[in-house]
Amino acid sequence: MPGTPENAPDYAVWHPYTATHQRPWVVQSAHGVRLHLDDGRELIDSVSSWWSCVHGYGHPELVQAVQEQVARLPHVMLGGLTHAPAEQLAAQLVEMAPIGLERVFFADSGSVGVEVALKMAAQYWQNMGRSHKRRFVSLRGAYHGDTAGAMSIGEPDDSMHLFTAATPSASFLEPPRGFEDRHSAAEALKRLEQLLRREATELAAFVVEPIQQSYGGFNMYHPWFLEEARWLCDQHEVLLIADEVATGFGRTGKWFACDWSGITPDIMVLSKALTGGMLGMSATMATRKLFDAFQGAPEKAFMHGPTFMGNPTAAAAALKSLEIMRRDGYLERVVRIEQRLRADLLGLEHRSHKVLATRVLGATGVVEVRDRADYQGLAEFAAERGVWLRPFERYVYTMPAYVISDSELAQVTSVIREWFLR
Ligand SMILES: *Cc1c(COP(=O)(O)O)cnc(C)c1O
Repeated sequence: MPGTPENAPDYAVWHPYTATHQRPWVVQSAHGVRLHLDDGRELIDSVSSWWSCVHGYGHPELVQAVQEQVARLPHVMLGGLTHAPAEQLAAQLVEMAPIGLERVFFADSGSVGVEVALKMAAQYWQNMGRSHKRRFVSLRGAYHGDTAGAMSIGEPDDSMHLFTAATPSASFLEPPRGFEDRHSAAEALKRLEQLLRREATELAAFVVEPIQQSYGGFNMYHPWFLEEARWLCDQHEVLLIADEVATGFGRTGKWFACDWSGITPDIMVLSKALTGGMLGMSATMATRKLFDAFQGAPEKAFMHGPTFMGNPTAAAAALKSLEIMRRDGYLERVVRIEQRLRADLLGLEHRSHKVLATRVLGATGVVEVRDRADYQGLAEFAAERGVWLRPFERYVYTMPAYVISDSELAQVTSVIREWFLR
């Protein structure tokens, strides 16, 4: 891995999640699912740029949509003005999302989308005259973003966020584990009910990554948990916030992970795949009932408004992305990806002592190792075989673009298998 030496004067980029100032591989261009590096190598991107580039790179229709929008109206503020791309996108999201989510607040990233959701929930109760309801409960192992509020509801003991933000402390619930494990869901529901009994008078909302916790170990859990959690939240007058930043737009095999449970959260956050990986954007969706609580008096207004909210260019990309996804049968593609991931990855734990468990849901496949040392050198090993892998914590995983071909996906899984079966 060539690199400009540490502290080289000509290398000014500060990279995320790393304590070594080494210059990473340089990507010059990308087409389809392939990254083209400046040294001539071509790598299949097995993680679709943090799960956002679901159409692969440089999809001609997305490129054209962005080019046309930039020429017409690249940006305009959403305060006191509006424009067709934002309005059309909001209408389409309402049409696609679980029934009852009827208003859309745009922002520029998943983390900010989550901040918006937390502020909305707390202010909702304030506007209803119940300002003591301002704390949150979330799941152990959760990841909701890197901004201070989002971090405060993320796994408190994880190594990713040793720095803890000075924000109100949340309560944490041990999540259910296993997509098919109804017993684990039942146990978690008991814990949730006890917690709600104890704390509901102070709680604004229960925040979850529905069905699949991603950064927090790719834990997939039984849809029944969410169905009953919806009911318990209603009983105890606590809002339910679904963070679908990672799961939204087909990743788990349904358009939204909430669809597995047939529920409508009070607030739902979308980002990552929203623009097909073209530009940063998030959409925080809310029910009509929630929205109505912010109307009628100036002090009730929602005081949030990012400079680039509803950016027309990002909205145009998102509109085109939704059109392509629905027209080109992306959910069926995810089913095909799931079949191959299941066939190639499940059961590896019986063949390699380094593997603790394997899990697959939709277009996510994960191999959990016993020790981080078990994948030392894997990125280079994969790159020599034409694949870009980025393991983290104890997880070697793939979340590819939905357009990945069967043979390209086979290349990704065979690299993973080869590594563990050497
Ligand atoms: C990535 C992610 C976020 C944060 O989104 P950013 O765009 O990186 O700020 C929040 N929640 C979940 C579930 C995510 O996967």
